[in-house]
Amino acid sequence: MADWNNKKVSILGLGRSGIAAASYLVKRGAKVLVSESQPKDKINPKLLAELNALPVESEFGAHSERCLSWSELVITSPGIPPHADVMLRAKAHRREVISDVELAYRECKDTVPFIAVTGTNGKSTTTALISYILEKAGRLAPACGNIGVPILSRLDSGPLDFLVVEVSSYQLQYSPTFAPYIGIWLNLTPDHLDWHGGLDPYIEAKRSMFAHQEMESYAILNQDDSMVATTRTKAELFPFTLLPAANRGIQGAYLEDGFLCYSHNARTRVVCNQNDLRIIGKHNIENALAAISACCLAGLTEKEIEQHLCTFKALEHRLEFVETVDGVDFYNDSKATNTDSAIKALESFPEKSVVLIAGGKDKGTPLSDLIQSIKKYALGVILIGEAKERFERALREAGFNDIYVAATMEEAVQIGGKLKKGPVLLSPACASFDMFRDFEDRGRVFKDLVRARAREMASPRQ
Ligand code: ADP
Repeated sequence: MADWNNKKVSILGLGRSGIAAASYLVKRGAKVLVSESQPKDKINPKLLAELNALPVESEFGAHSERCLSWSELVITSPGIPPHADVMLRAKAHRREVISDVELAYRECKDTVPFIAVTGTNGKSTTTALISYILEKAGRLAPACGNIGVPILSRLDSGPLDFLVVEVSSYQLQYSPTFAPYIGIWLNLTPDHLDWHGGLDPYIEAKRSMFAHQEMESYAILNQDDSMVATTRTKAELFPFTLLPAANRGIQGAYLEDGFLCYSHNARTRVVCNQNDLRIIGKHNIENALAAISACCLAGLTEKEIEQHLCTFKALEHRLEFVETVDGVDFYNDSKATNTDSAIKALESFPEKSVVLIAGGKDKGTPLSDLIQSIKKYALGVILIGEAKERFERALREAGFNDIYVAATMEEAVQIGGKLKKGPVLLSPACASFDMFRDFEDRGRVFKDLVRARAREMASPRQ
């Protein structure tokens, strides 16, 4: 651990991770300046109250020259891209700029092994799953990072067996020495390109996590994703794949005849059948294989892994089963704010089985792939929100006419329930801001309406 006494540190961005960094550093005697580009009246009052309770300096409305010239170290927040003016100025001042993950790593790399999960999709689910299995098996292994609990807030909670960290490419971009004991890379699709300034820097950021690993650490890589599989690292490889033959005989996790298996130390173990999982869809089998790999390398037995893997339920808003109402299953996948995620959700059901609720704030992205999936997996589509006209036009042009238009989410739930064609899946492929505060609000409203419908159906008819 570094000696922070009287060290001057600037924190760029007042978010939850910024507050956690400030709190961590002042406890250790550092002098902290929190600098936020938004005006004070735009800041969440709860965050402001937390800031006010800390003995730190703060500034709002712009990142001043002083916040760079005064400090010896700058901690940045994921919201600030490398091409932002303040980052360019920090470079000119030759200030070292690091993420909170890098800071946490420097602070406790010798005392707690890091299990780090990155990828374009599936990070939160896999992070939560690994932490869940380890903790159920009696290890102290909290989930933190991008999942919503700042990593630095976990360092004061006493001795830990592992830190299970969800790491975004934003954090990796500013984590120059971060080298987890177990690094996991789930997949890569083009995303966040504006932030990174292109695809190459995005890939580089992800790869950097493995570039610094040493021989006694592990890299769990998705063997079916060519960009991920070809990552260079000194760490011992532990690949996972949905293809059985690829992995036989070597170490790694794989799916064979519907069973999730792994090979380690020249022994093959069968963990469970894919139908035993309570998280559905092919993408969740990948997440489960990655989690099995991490837990095996963390020293758990196959019994412990099996027992707890199969009781893990989906995170809220991610293909979350809500309730069966009058014979109809309802699923909440409100987190699907883009077409890729909605496609993944559709693919989790049998062909021609599901009624999809889609629409919301239109992102204007091409719809052809989504429409192909709808034609393959859906028996009907209920459209909501601003996007409904464009979605309807595109569906009809493609020859899909089982379309219902709803003015509200309540109407959409009622239509889905009455159709009785199959499970009703809210996976909007759109942002939520036209009708809701955020995707969480949208998902909760949906769940409340489903439960209200359940009560309505259960109460005796007049
Ligand atoms: P992240 O934290 O990376 O955003 P989540 O676990 O919150 O990932 O899942 C978000 C969405 O990404 C899910 O609703 C699902 O549609 C999709 N998803 C989850 N896991 C995977 C995966 N392994 N591969 C591709 N897509 C996935």
